[in-house]
Amino acid sequence: MITETHTHHCGKCGSTNIVRNGINRCGNQQYLCKDCRTCRVLSPKSVGYSAERREEILAIYQERSSMRGVERATGVSRRTLATWIKKKSLSHQR
Ligand SMILES: [Zn+2]
Repeated sequence: MITETHTHHCGKCGSTNIVRNGINRCGNQQYLCKDCRTCRVLSPKSVGYSAERREEILAIYQERSSMRGVERATGVSRRTLATWIKKKSLSHQR
């Protein structure tokens, strides 16, 4: 069993009887379901940023006004950044 703040469920059988199963080729943590032996990656590195992190990065963008600069400084792709900026500008419209 892994002890984290949130519980992982097996995507196949729904069991929470999951153990860490090392790192795959891409450097992502893999988990193994002990009940049905399904092995899968539960949290890919490249997907998902916390809201705080997003705000932080958007603040950097406002300072630099350069997507390329932000990409270099934070490692966030320009495509991801563009999506955030679009969302943010929409939510700020009156
Ligand atoms: Zn399972």
